[in-house]
Amino acid sequence: MERVRVRFAPSPTGPLHIGGVRTALYNYLFAKKYGGTFILRIEDTDQSRYVEGAEEYIMESLAWCGIIVDEGIREGGKYGPYRQSDKKAIFRQYADILVNKGDAYYAFDTPEVLDTLRHEAEKTGKTFIYNAGVRQSLSNSLSLKETEWKEKLDKGEPYVIRFKMPDNEDIHFEDIVRGHIVVNTSTLDDKVLFKSDGMPTYHLAHIVDDHIMEISHVIRGEEWLPSLPLHILMYRSFGWEHPLFAHLPLLLKPDGKGKLSKRDGDKMGFPVFPLFWPYGETAKGYREEGYYPDAFVNMLALLGWNPGTEQELFSMDELINAFSIDRVGKSGSRFDPEKAKWFNHQYLQKKSNTQLAMEFREFLRAHGYHADIVRIESLVGLVKERVSFVKEIWEQTDFFFKAPESYDPEVVKKRWNEDSVKLLLELKPILEKTNDFSSAGAESSITAWIEEKGYNTGSIMTPLRLVIVGASRGPHMFDIISWLGKEETINRIEKGIDRLSKQM
Ligand code: GLU
Repeated sequence: MERVRVRFAPSPTGPLHIGGVRTALYNYLFAKKYGGTFILRIEDTDQSRYVEGAEEYIMESLAWCGIIVDEGIREGGKYGPYRQSDKKAIFRQYADILVNKGDAYYAFDTPEVLDTLRHEAEKTGKTFIYNAGVRQSLSNSLSLKETEWKEKLDKGEPYVIRFKMPDNEDIHFEDIVRGHIVVNTSTLDDKVLFKSDGMPTYHLAHIVDDHIMEISHVIRGEEWLPSLPLHILMYRSFGWEHPLFAHLPLLLKPDGKGKLSKRDGDKMGFPVFPLFWPYGETAKGYREEGYYPDAFVNMLALLGWNPGTEQELFSMDELINAFSIDRVGKSGSRFDPEKAKWFNHQYLQKKSNTQLAMEFREFLRAHGYHADIVRIESLVGLVKERVSFVKEIWEQTDFFFKAPESYDPEVVKKRWNEDSVKLLLELKPILEKTNDFSSAGAESSITAWIEEKGYNTGSIMTPLRLVIVGASRGPHMFDIISWLGKEETINRIEKGIDRLSKQM
């Protein structure tokens, strides 16, 4: 493979959607697979859509994912500037090259005139296309006399520079994902390359930048495929060889109907952004929801690419090794929030109890609880298999840290009676006498007593769980009381009897 140089080129218009993160990831995997360079270029030429904070958000998102930028606005590099607004003048020179070659022209039509034409066309069920069909009847340097349009320029009349789309020509090109494509130019319009505000449009800026930066492969979202014939023609006009193209299929809503949007996330309660977005209308992020970056990356990698094997769990290095752009599918990939959780569950299971205990200790601290790390570790071991997120450890273990304030009324109704009080009162001295209060020690002492008395195990264990936990949930009962210790266990029994007797 020739020298691989790829770029991720987001526009800083808000938080980066997970579809964008996937594009960045595929570029990164592809670059690293072939020992190439991964470039981050900020495409901020549309000033009306610029959003403060978005640039930092993009860089922080990539860093969180473990996607390392080789060249970019922070990293530098010899192909910079890597922010397009920092090189306006360069783009203007390239627009002029196309004008001088006769492949682009000045157009003076006001937005009002163009709007009217659009509306008129709509009335007759047509779409207005600014191209060879109507060009001569509009106000531009191809329809006007040279003296006329030069005078307009001299007077400082606002203008744009448009690409002169050839008339009725079949454009053939290849896309790595889509294969061979043919488009006739009569369906395409004379796209604006340079705007009246002195900024290039995306079409001009990215072609020029991809050329200057010696990009070998353009891997980007499918929404850019319709513009590819224009881009191919622009390369031809400049006389440059174009990079190879791969257009990635869309990420679809969980039901498969349409593109995954921010609103789907809001509706169904899952994030569509990697990190929390703190400005204006805030949005949830995978990081803050408790996802591990490697689980998130693993999940994203498989949304559109398949390794051709049954393997589902991949580290970043394994992804780099296995990745192949030829195995990116043509059709959109349905986003499955449950599968995302599944990945996190898998990654959490791979962590040691010590590691999880340290993470959970942070959570506890933030909520005002403290416990010895060894004790937290044993707790984590009890519930690890049931959880997919560190915060869920709390949902499973809250009662270890605080005695119940209330008791599940359903359980009370069905399982609490005079007998429960009598049996728990009888259990108290048994516990007091138990010297070995380990889980096994407490178990053998309690079962010995139950057997000796010929009691029914359930009629003791259910009320015991009720006074200790407050409900019928939680891990093995003896693990719980052993962790709490004799004193706390007895306290909870006394408190439970007291409170529940008043309710009877
Ligand atoms: N700035 C474009 C975007 O935000 C980049 C498209 C491309 O990669 O060429 O999607």
